[in-house]
Amino acid sequence: SHTRKRLVMGNWKMHGSLAANAALLEGLVAGATRAGDAQLAVCVPFPYLAQARDALAGTPVSWGAQDVSVHAQGAYTGEVAPAMLADFGCAWTLCGHSERRAMHGESSALVAAKAASALAAGLTPVVCVGETLDDRDAGQVECVIGDQLDPVLALGTQALARMVIAYEPVWAIGTGRTATPEQAQAVHAFIRASLTRSGAGQTRILYGGSVKPANAASLFAQPDIDGALVGGASLVADEFLDIAAAAA
Ligand code: PEP
Repeated sequence: SHTRKRLVMGNWKMHGSLAANAALLEGLVAGATRAGDAQLAVCVPFPYLAQARDALAGTPVSWGAQDVSVHAQGAYTGEVAPAMLADFGCAWTLCGHSERRAMHGESSALVAAKAASALAAGLTPVVCVGETLDDRDAGQVECVIGDQLDPVLALGTQALARMVIAYEPVWAIGTGRTATPEQAQAVHAFIRASLTRSGAGQTRILYGGSVKPANAASLFAQPDIDGALVGGASLVADEFLDIAAAAA
């Protein structure tokens, strides 16, 4: 019934340790079949990419980074190039998570440029967009999301077809306050229409913002919600796998 392959992706943010990650990764691998046909992935802090690679090799769980440099190489202390991630076997990178937009001043133009750099290196970017509560209260949701999407749409059909979009309303991230399935679907339909006009109507659109086992099924029942980007609940194997099972 759902034609696009579902994707349930964890965003560990700046959490974890070698010991805690080992247990979490082991739990994910042990329960990965619960995802059925849905894809499973985790985006981990840079120092733990090697641990994720080793623990997940040969399993159906893929792994990625939470950010990437827009630059290919050079004098950019502290940055990580997309080719370095690809060299390492990394499949995914988040681009423009709201925490990076808010705390690191990432503009929509930069986020789109990062997505292009990631694609050029062979990574799949997951481009995050989302409005604040002030934007929503002011009736500016489509205007804000449209502005965030415009430079991404300008990358063209081929690029759009190879990426993933994540709709993450800022007011729902880490707050325990989820968008209702209807609120989420309305924005997903708006994003879908934009992608369709750009010739990339089958690009997957994930929802993110306090996704939990209790609300996952109703979100995944929406026609334009193709999976989830999961923060807090991705740190507990059973919760993440319960969400994955809802996408199966
Ligand atoms: C996120 O970090 O992308 C996120 C959606 O977090 P949470 O699930 O904790 O709201």
